[in-house]
Amino acid sequence: MTFSEPDQRFKPGATLEALLQRRNRLLGPAYRLFYDRPVHIVEGRGAWLTGADGNRYLDAYNNVPHVGHCHPRVVEAICTQATTLNTHTRYLHEQVLDYAERLLDRFPAALDVAMFACTGSEANELALRMARAATGAFGIIAVEHAYHGNSQATAELSGVRAAGADGPAHVALVPCPDAFRGAHRGPDAGARYAETVGRAIDELKARGHAPAAFIIDTVLASNGLPRIPGDWLAGIMKHVRDAGALFIADEVQPGFGRMGSHFWGWQMLGVEPDIVTLGKPMGNGHPISGVVTRAELAGAFQKTSNYFNTFGGNPVSCAAAMAVLDVLDEEQLPQRALATGKHLRAGLRALAETHTIMGDVRGSGGFTAVDLVTDRETREPAAAAAARIVNAMRERGVLLGSSGPFGNVLKIRSPLVFDLPEADFLLERLADVLGEVSPEG
Ligand code: PMP
Repeated sequence: MTFSEPDQRFKPGATLEALLQRRNRLLGPAYRLFYDRPVHIVEGRGAWLTGADGNRYLDAYNNVPHVGHCHPRVVEAICTQATTLNTHTRYLHEQVLDYAERLLDRFPAALDVAMFACTGSEANELALRMARAATGAFGIIAVEHAYHGNSQATAELSGVRAAGADGPAHVALVPCPDAFRGAHRGPDAGARYAETVGRAIDELKARGHAPAAFIIDTVLASNGLPRIPGDWLAGIMKHVRDAGALFIADEVQPGFGRMGSHFWGWQMLGVEPDIVTLGKPMGNGHPISGVVTRAELAGAFQKTSNYFNTFGGNPVSCAAAMAVLDVLDEEQLPQRALATGKHLRAGLRALAETHTIMGDVRGSGGFTAVDLVTDRETREPAAAAAARIVNAMRERGVLLGSSGPFGNVLKIRSPLVFDLPEADFLLERLADVLGEVSPEG
């Protein structure tokens, strides 16, 4: 296997500016890059990236290269299939069936059909269409500040719009359950947040829309990976079922073992979904996504539409996705995420003993959040400091991000090969950076 040499056209220093200008000219202004000084990456291996400047960066952010950048097993599977056949999905081929079987083995027996697409947005789009076809209703309930995709229908459910603010009449947004910063924090928090879904259903009905589905990212990643009250979803499901709506679990973020203790995020919430959507980590960077559901719901969809997706589930994509499942099992990566995540969070909590800006450290397996506050009493979000920390970490060779409605939550979500030495590397760098940043930023 050969990998490309670093791109010699872009040398350190002045060339970064030239590359930025070229990008803005060619791709237009809508795109966004990470970091005040964007990184130019030319190679990846495991949890590490190499920049065009020759520097190494620890990837503590990417959930796409789930089993590690350029994992040889996945690369080989892609190459082998690509040299044999790749085509659209209207011929018979075993690869998609072999993969569907392996994937469905990871689900309860009732969820027995898998359909394939290329992006998380497409998977959610298909799930919405399916829910609407099966229920005959059009309304959707989602969580404020969630992200479900970039298509028209999924973008309507995404964004920072507050509940009740102007948006499409068929969409109702409910507050994110957040036992750390939210309006309800006590033992009745789950029930109080669940009631908001009952009210959202009434709102939708008042606007002439019965609800077709309640959709959540099952770890609420865009909301800053909040502490979700244990009885929250069960409380909601009563309202959702009574209204005849379906539950869509968007597993694009937590799916495929990221959370360590559970292979899927919905398992942590204790409610079996009607429809599950999959994306990002599924092909380790190769674009494949999916919808898993009951045959009866797929059948209801088929009464209104035929499904064709030129690329979704093609032999090369399915070979990549199959290799991801192989590697997860053989290298026991969910188990590793569990151990590394525990170590990382213990180290972060130790740092929090001296750094009052760290208001809360939370997460599971390979997904960790550090909620930064200007004041531990008021829990005021320290958004400016979060931006400074993220950028200072980038300068020290650790790539992480921030999230949440205030942008004050450090998001640590590395490839699952991230191990104890990587966690220690991150902790050391963070200790340095925290020493330089005040809570006010
Ligand atoms: N759902 C969730 C929860 C996501 O995080 C994302 C992407 N960040 C999507 C859906 C959309 O996936 P894609 O970008 O592959 O369309």
